[in-house]
Amino acid sequence: MDRSERLDKLKPLLRQVLELLGEDPEREGLHRTPERWGDALLTYTQGNVADPQEHLKVIFQLDEGDFPLGSDDMIIQNNIEFTSTCEHHISPFRGVVHLAYIPNPESRVITGLSKLSRVVDVFARRLQVQERMTQQIARAIDESLNPLGVITVVEAVHYCMIQRGVQQRASTTITTARRGAFLTNPGLENKFQDYLRLRTGNGIM
Ligand code: ZN
Repeated sequence: MDRSERLDKLKPLLRQVLELLGEDPEREGLHRTPERWGDALLTYTQGNVADPQEHLKVIFQLDEGDFPLGSDDMIIQNNIEFTSTCEHHISPFRGVVHLAYIPNPESRVITGLSKLSRVVDVFARRLQVQERMTQQIARAIDESLNPLGVITVVEAVHYCMIQRGVQQRASTTITTARRGAFLTNPGLENKFQDYLRLRTGNGIM
């Protein structure tokens, strides 16, 4: 079913939701809301019909001579912004992803830097829990680039925590996923964290 067909089916259902909330769907402000709401929902979930591996197919191979990397030299992409949708409450959570991978010296394969944020975007545009999204990003990079190791750290605020009962406005949720060398060598994570601190201090920029 294509997007416009799905939107056509969503509209009457969302109109009904408005009615059940005690609203008048015909009043001025709500008249076109089912259409806009449906369109927004399809955008929030468009990662369901996207394949993250498509982006990670764009790879480059470093020449052997350009690859004197030690087994703890990592490529770090930090502060990748995302907005996702909590699958329990259909409310947004937003934050940043920091990730790193250590290229495999055998294949010498790396990916385009923008592709890493595309992968985050594909997983974020689904109904999600942060814990799973964190693992999915790490797994996708692990499976497509076969690096020595990969780590993802996600920090987010959840509007279901802010707007509903508990009203925790200052609380953020941090989740991590590690694969390969990041599991077996704790020093690597310290190094990764050091680089992130350098970035958020007055180090690089
Ligand atoms: Zn929630």
